[in-house]
Amino acid sequence: MATGVSKRAGQIAPSMTLKIDAKAKEMKQNGLDVIGFGAGEPDFDTPASICDAAREALLKGMTRYTPVSGTLHLREAICKKLSRDNGLDYKPGEIIVSNGAKHSLSILFQCILNDGDEVIIPTPCWVSYPEMVRMAGGVPVYAASGEADNFVPTAASIQSAVTARTKAFMLTSPSNPCGSVWTRDQLAFLLELAEKNDFYIVSDEIYENFLYDGLKHQSIASLTPGAKHRTLLVNGVSKSYAMTGWRIGYVAGPADVIKAMDNYQSQSASNANSIAQYAAAEALLGCQDSVEGMRDAFEKRRNTMVQMILEIPGLSCQKPDGAFYVMLNIKGILGRYYGGKKIDTSMAFADALLENKHVAVVPGIAFEAEGYCRLSYAISERTIQEGLTRIAAFVSAMTQKAE
Ligand code: PMP
Ligand code: GLU
Repeated sequence: MATGVSKRAGQIAPSMTLKIDAKAKEMKQNGLDVIGFGAGEPDFDTPASICDAAREALLKGMTRYTPVSGTLHLREAICKKLSRDNGLDYKPGEIIVSNGAKHSLSILFQCILNDGDEVIIPTPCWVSYPEMVRMAGGVPVYAASGEADNFVPTAASIQSAVTARTKAFMLTSPSNPCGSVWTRDQLAFLLELAEKNDFYIVSDEIYENFLYDGLKHQSIASLTPGAKHRTLLVNGVSKSYAMTGWRIGYVAGPADVIKAMDNYQSQSASNANSIAQYAAAEALLGCQDSVEGMRDAFEKRRNTMVQMILEIPGLSCQKPDGAFYVMLNIKGILGRYYGGKKIDTSMAFADALLENKHVAVVPGIAFEAEGYCRLSYAISERTIQEGLTRIAAFVSAMTQKAE
């Protein structure tokens, strides 16, 4: 038997978003003036009341193992939040807390998929979904969408992806990377299809608080009285409360799936961090003003970013309805040259931009969206302006031929 990593581990692609973010942070540490449009991470500090709760937890000696699925205190707080914000009635036994929503999703797929089971994923999609499905033995099946559909797959595209092996549909509204928001009618269509064909809806609602132009989030689990029985609702505190480093995410869903996840987590990670759990309960139950403050700031930043992009010849974008990302359409300049190098892919664009202008963006290929790059606007207005000024200079220095 030879040493070396397993076939399974060897096949896992690294998270491109985290890789680019790490590279940008490293360049910054080395003294370079880097503009980071890469990371999907709020630039705000965690609100003081939440940090105070963490201190209180330490003072109270909450430093021991908690129940695997999370403290009753936090699961009750999650139930209250789901009732208050989403009109949903869950019991603590229908909730499991994990180390961030990414962890929640990954365990979830491990617990619902058998080898060869299919998960329909609308594209462009967040980097980790296809990989997580594959890691659980499942098969990602893409339902493509484009700018013409506002980055929500059409009913025909979704329907044609359904087969006898469909186990789940990956719904993300508002979405990463497109910021698209599904309408009530689109949600109702999906729910009906799921009921007819008996598959789960995994609803990632991590961006639920970041909707713009007066739009309001609706959880698909609340659409009909039966909807919650086939929905696995995923959420967390990372985005809404600027708590990315605290690592608290959760799933609300049918008790049998939650129980399987509890077993899985009990053998792999035990409970999420006890201090962070206490702080997360404060985030969910305490004053919510900071959430609206961030939403308001993101809306202004989105407007600035979109306006500046539309002024750059050769580039374009749609105005997203939610989350904090813009999909920059670079199709108009692909095939041109920068510094003698052909820029013919989103990866070549992102590499040359980082190398020459110190601006980090995520190439669309990471999201199954060649021809685009994702820009996060979870950074200050001033940084957005500086970054887009550099992108404009980068694009205007491109030539039609190698020189
Ligand atoms: N879902 C989506 C769509 C995301 O963008 C993120 C951000 N990384 C996550 C889930 C996971 O968030 P976290 O693990 O920080 O809770
Ligand atoms: N969700 C964020 C992003 O897409 C954070 C990085 C990650 O977890 O992939 O950039």
